[in-house]
This record gives sequence, C-alpha cells and structure tokens, in this order.
Amino acid sequence: MAFDGVVVLVTGGSRGIGRAAALEFAAAGATVAIQYRQDREAADEVLVALGGGPHIALQADVADPAQVQTLVRSVVDRLGRVDVLVNNAGVYTRHPVLDTDYATWQEAWRETIDTNLVGPANLVHCVVPHMVRNGGGRIVNVTSRGAFRGEPDHPAYGASKAGLNSFSQSLAQALAPHGIYVTAVAPGFVETDMAAPYLHGPGGDAVRAQSPLGRAATPEEIARVIVFLASPGTESAVGAIVDVNGASYLRT
Ligand code: NAP
Repeated sequence: MAFDGVVVLVTGGSRGIGRAAALEFAAAGATVAIQYRQDREAADEVLVALGGGPHIALQADVADPAQVQTLVRSVVDRLGRVDVLVNNAGVYTRHPVLDTDYATWQEAWRETIDTNLVGPANLVHCVVPHMVRNGGGRIVNVTSRGAFRGEPDHPAYGASKAGLNSFSQSLAQALAPHGIYVTAVAPGFVETDMAAPYLHGPGGDAVRAQSPLGRAATPEEIARVIVFLASPGTESAVGAIVDVNGASYLRT
C-alpha cells in the first residue's frame, strides 16, 4: 500500500476531520499517531477504529510550545520517525467585534492564534529536523475557506487561517529542496462538532445553500484530499492551497 512503513502524526485526531484523516491514512497502510487535547474517550474510540496495533494516541495542547516538543519527541521515541505531519487541530471561537468585551476579545485572539497558527508553526519546527534526517516528508496544513471569504463573527479565526496559508507557502519554498513537500487544504463547512451549531441551528439551511451541492462536506471528503496531498507522486502540488468547499466560494 502507498503508506506502508510511513508514520503520520495527525493533530486533532480524536474527532471530525482529524479522525477521518487518521482512518484514511491507516487504511492506506500508515502507522498513525493521533493527538488530542482533552477528549481521551474520543481518542480511545479512534484507536479502536484504527484497529489498535502500532497506532497511538497522545494528549497535548498544541497551543503550549513545551507540550508540542514533548509530543513530537514521544512520537519519534515510540514510532521511530515522523514522515507526514497533518496540522489539523483548531478552534473556532465566536467574538464579533461589536458584541465582545475587551477582555474576552483578548482571550479569543490569544487562544485562536496560539492554537491555529503558532501551534502548527511549533509542530513544524519540531518535526522538520526528523524529516530532514529521514530524507524528506510531507506537511499538510488544514486551513479554511474563511481565510479568503472573511469571518465576520470569528475574525481571529479568519486571520489565523490566512496566516496558516501564508506560512504553508513560505514553508513550501523553504523545505522542497530538502524533500519536504508542504501543502494546505481549505475546507468550507464540514459536518463535524465544530460546525454543528451553524449547520444544525436556525441558519443551517442558509449555510447549506451556500454550496450548489446543497450540503456541507463530509469529514471523509476532506480526509481524502489530505491523504492525496501526502501521497507519493504529487510532489508538484507543493505550495498548493486546495479549496474543498463545494463551490461555495470560488477564488479568482
Ligand atoms: P472538531 O470536530 O472541533 O475537532 C477539533 C479537534 O482539534 C479535536 O480533536 C480537538 O481535541 C483538537 N483540538 C482543539 N484545540 C486543541 C488544542 N489547543 N490542542 C490540541 N488539540 C486541540 O474540528 P473539525 O471540524 O474536525 O476541524 C478540524 C480542522 O478543520 C480545524 O483546523 C478547523 O479549523 C478546520 N476547518 C473545519 C471546518 C468545519 O466546518 N468543521 C471548516 C474549515 C476548516 P479534543 O477532541 O481533545 O477536544
């Protein structure tokens, strides 16, 4: 299989898109380390779905630089290497500028940027020396349509994902000469816990109507694109930001 002998680290692998990506990679032969923040039960359920065996689940807060170092060290200690990093963990905190007090605003920005942007940057810093030593690797960053379309009620989120897109492209140029290929996937709404309040609340029909498909994406659809971008033979996609938003927002 395409991923036999390959070790993949998926952050936020306990639920949603990360869970689907972990299953997809394992089905293609990879050994998967999933990271989760607090939901041990969900992480254990994913391990069972993966079939146990060599796969592992590790707890860490990606917003904490020291925990990121420990996480990467643990994966390398236990699985020997990291060939693919999927920076998927993220938060989507509501903080509209006109309705958010200053203290809450600070908190929302700090949590969002630390989790969605600085976390992935730190993971990259920790993982890349191992990839160089092993002759190469792949990094897939999960960003968002919101980086391009705007996030009026979640402005830090939009900024964090725009930053992650830019970071992905800078890394693509810096790391391709070392055999490390960096790409990004930018989903629109996806049927996960994160989007549930919007898809299943009073505005759900309007959200679904943004796409001519009349629905949100499934986590599996996003996972297949992540796995594709991490696959051997797709090297020239390096630097790409792939929209997976059901044509709900078409960039020019
Ligand atoms: P989700 O269902 O809410 O799952 C989030 C995952 O991230 C969980 O595994 C959670 O761990 C983990 N996580 C959150 N904060 C963390 C932290 N500080 N440290 C470590 N892990 C943390 O989210 P999702 O919808 O699958 O989203 C996955 C990615 O896709 C995110 O980056 C999101 O921004 C992006 N995205 C999602 C949508 C959408 O509509 N769902 C659209 C565009 C982009 P626990 O389970 O332990 O809490």
